Amino acid sequence: MSISNFEDSLLTLKGYFLAKRLMSKTQYFTRTEIEEYQIRAIYKLLNQVCTYIPYYKKLFWDYDFDVSKFDDLKKLRQLPILKKKDLLDAPQDFIFANEACRSLELSTSGTSGEPLKTFTSRNQWIIEQASIWRHWKWAGYKFRDKMAILRSYAPKNNEPIMKLNKLKNWLYVSPYHLDDKNGLEILKKLRKWQPKFLRGYPSSLYVLAVISRNYDIKIPSLKAALTASEVLTDEYRRVIEETFKIKVFDHYGQAEITTMIHECEKHECLHLLEDYAYTEFKNIEGTEEKSLIATNLFNYAMPLLRYDTGDKVILSKKVCSCGRSFKGIKKIIGRSDLLLFHKKGYYIPSINLYTYFSKLKEVSKFQVIQHNNNEIEVRIQLINANITSSKQIQYDIKNEFNDRFGTTIDLKITNEFITGSGGKCNPIIQKIKK
Ligand SMILES: [Zn+2]
Repeated sequence: MSISNFEDSLLTLKGYFLAKRLMSKTQYFTRTEIEEYQIRAIYKLLNQVCTYIPYYKKLFWDYDFDVSKFDDLKKLRQLPILKKKDLLDAPQDFIFANEACRSLELSTSGTSGEPLKTFTSRNQWIIEQASIWRHWKWAGYKFRDKMAILRSYAPKNNEPIMKLNKLKNWLYVSPYHLDDKNGLEILKKLRKWQPKFLRGYPSSLYVLAVISRNYDIKIPSLKAALTASEVLTDEYRRVIEETFKIKVFDHYGQAEITTMIHECEKHECLHLLEDYAYTEFKNIEGTEEKSLIATNLFNYAMPLLRYDTGDKVILSKKVCSCGRSFKGIKKIIGRSDLLLFHKKGYYIPSINLYTYFSKLKEVSKFQVIQHNNNEIEVRIQLINANITSSKQIQYDIKNEFNDRFGTTIDLKITNEFITGSGGKCNPIIQKIKK
C-alpha cells in the first residue's frame, strides 16, 4: 500500500525522534557493540523468516542452516548470495504476508531497466528516516533550516519551476529546466532566499554550479550540499564544492532497502551504516573493488538475506577522525548515470526516468537511446497489456518525453534491446559525445 502525506510525515517525525535518541548513540558504538547489535537483530530476523516465509524455511533446510545456533555473523555465509534475478523472477517468495499488508510499497527499476516492487515495513521506514535525519545532522542541518532541493520535482508546462513548501522551509527546484535562463532565475532566487543547504542529484547540482560559475552568481548563505541517487563523480564534487564554497555530504542507499552509506563531517571517508544493515564485502579478482552484499537488519516485510546490490566499493584504509567505528568506504562505484539533453541542448537528469518507468506496471523493460538532441529512441517491452492499454501507455510515454525533452520520440514496442560488453543491458544509452 502507498501511504498518505500525513502518514508519511508522521513516520518521518518518528524517524526524527529515533535519530535523536537511539541512533545518536549507536553511531558511536565500539566494534564489539556493533557486532553484538547486529547478531541480536539478525537472530531475531532469522527466526521470523524461517517461521513465516516458506522460501527461507526450505533454503535453511537445504543448506542445513540452524537458526537456533546463530551466534556469529560469519555463519550467514553458509547461505547463498541472493541475486537480483532471483528477486525479479519471484518477488512474492520473499514477502512476509502479515507484515507486508501493513508495509510501504516502493518501486525501482535499478540498473537493468526491469521494474521491481519492494516492500518496507513501517518500522524499517522509521529507521530509514532516522538514518537520513542523522546524516543531515552530520552536515549541520537543523529542523526547518532552509533547503533548496533539485530532484524529482518535474513541473508540467503550466507549473512554475520552483515551488516553496513553507512548513518544511524547502524550495523544490526543477532539475529538468536547467538552461542558462532558468539557471540564472534560480540562482538569483536562491541568493535572495538564502538557503543553508542544497540537496539534489549530483549531476543537477553540478549543472547549477557551472551556471553559477559562468555568470559569477554566488550564494553566500550556503553551508553544505547533500547528494544522493547517482554516483558523485570526482569532477561533480570538485565543481560543486569550489563554486559554492561548501562541502558535499554524499548518501548511498537502495530502493531494495538493503544497505546505506553516509559521508561524515570529516570527509575522510564515507561510513557504512552498521546499525542499519550487516554488509559483507566480496572480493573481485584483479581489483581492489569489492561487491556489496547486504542484509538489512529490520525489514521484516521483505527480508533479503545476503542480497547482491550490484554495486561496488573501494574500502578506506584510514581510520576516520570523527570517532565513529562504522567501516570506512573510500569510493562508491555504482551506476554512473549519463546526462541526457533537451532539444535545446541543456541537460536533463536521467535518474528520474527509472522511477517513471517503474511506475508503469505494463512496462517490463525499457531502454532510452539518445542519438542527438532532437532524436530519442525509446524501446519498451510490455506485459499484460491489451490493445487499449498499449495505446494508452504509448500516448502517455510520448507526452511525458515531449514535456521533458521538448521533442517527439521514436517509441518501439519490442523484445530486442541493445546490450553492451558482457551482455549488460544499459537502460540509458547516450550517443552524443560532449
Ligand atoms: Zn567519519
